[in-house]
Amino acid sequence: MHEFTEEVESLAGEILAYSLERLKSDPPLDGPRSEADLFREVGNTITARGLGGSDALKVFTEVLAKACISTDHPRYLAFIPSAPSEFANLFDLVVGASALYGGSWQEGAGAVFAENQALQWLIDLAGLPDTAGGVFVQGGTIGNLSALVVARAEARKKFADATRWVIACSEESHSSIASAANVMDVDILKIATRSDRKLHGDDVAREIDALHAAGTSRVFAVVGTAGTTNLGIIDDLNGIAEAAHLRNIWFHVDGAYGLAALCAPSVRAKFNGVEKADSFIVDPHKWLFAPFDACALIYRNPELAREVHTQHATYLDTLHDGSWNPSDYAIHLTRRVRGLPFWFSLAAHGTDAYSKSMEATMTVAAQSAELIKKHPNLELLYEPELSIVAFTRPGWNAGQYQQWSDKLLADQIGFIPPSSDKGQPILRFAIVNPWTKISDIEAILATL
Ligand SMILES: *Cc1c(COP(=O)(O)O)cnc(C)c1O
Repeated sequence: MHEFTEEVESLAGEILAYSLERLKSDPPLDGPRSEADLFREVGNTITARGLGGSDALKVFTEVLAKACISTDHPRYLAFIPSAPSEFANLFDLVVGASALYGGSWQEGAGAVFAENQALQWLIDLAGLPDTAGGVFVQGGTIGNLSALVVARAEARKKFADATRWVIACSEESHSSIASAANVMDVDILKIATRSDRKLHGDDVAREIDALHAAGTSRVFAVVGTAGTTNLGIIDDLNGIAEAAHLRNIWFHVDGAYGLAALCAPSVRAKFNGVEKADSFIVDPHKWLFAPFDACALIYRNPELAREVHTQHATYLDTLHDGSWNPSDYAIHLTRRVRGLPFWFSLAAHGTDAYSKSMEATMTVAAQSAELIKKHPNLELLYEPELSIVAFTRPGWNAGQYQQWSDKLLADQIGFIPPSSDKGQPILRFAIVNPWTKISDIEAILATL
């Protein structure tokens, strides 16, 4: 180890060739295998003498990689797929080879500078002031938690008599909000959505006032969702912002999936109100064509986050010289410069290319909805607000949905596990990949 030998040189060639091939060709969809099955095939790969680079690579490329579903396959429409641009993926190789440390300005100034410019693009799209700032964290779950911890610290300054804190959000908000509440040991006020499935400001105001009628302000944050994960629905951000701010409460926008479409002119107006957010998140690893894992976490006033999240230790104090240290803005210390592949692709292609690709995915979503409406066996659940198309096959029970989904994967046609809505099984296409064409959708619909 730690010697550049001929073996390293030849392995580099193999790894680069494999990576290039993976980028060039349509990836196979692939699928999971049982642990026993995998063990039978590769055995214990950790040995005293080692397998050697070339053989270890073969274990991965010939067996293990094929037991992982390709999340960028054009007919992987499950959960939220990934769709990294070729440039972003290539630059991830550079990040991997460069031992860049992204926690502090002192060590990572150049990389942090670039990440911050990518964040600034998102800040400008959202309409927050220039003083806003943030950091790329691992994912939306950590992003939401980090923001909510800052929100609670602010509330502690204002509402000193609260004994039990509460996050207000919609019944459709993402599971990571409940996870944050659990970690923070706070309660959740789940507010019903209306027939349009959106959380509305009036309802937020009424429910918070009812909770606070006893005299104690307990709600420290209101979370609006800009694109629910299941149906892609955007809450009434303007109304929620007003309800929160009239009560001196932090307004956080969870846009892990949907806020990517801030750069799409055709839907930009749906996000009006996001400019009033005290914090928001968006995951470039979802719909902004970046590889896993990167969530952009933005604060209106990053100074508040720094007060809460900076870690103090004798060996770290040298870093606190007034420079911008990404570690100070979330729950983390050491960090990969995980925003850099996103920055590279954005810098190289330009922002217009992002708007265009975003619009293209929404066009495929709209066309898919039309095909579903015309399909004799299917019913569209909602007109897609963004790029999630939800529908049902009336007459099928949950088991039949699952069987169809299992067969679709077994036949290597697509990966679309069933979801549910109001207790009823549904299917949904999450279309974030510009490689997904309407012909892919037609191929899937032909099996229904
Ligand atoms: C995906 C998602 C999250 C969680 O993000 P991770 O990156 O998976 O942790 C949070 N909120 C919404 C709305 C999401 O779609």
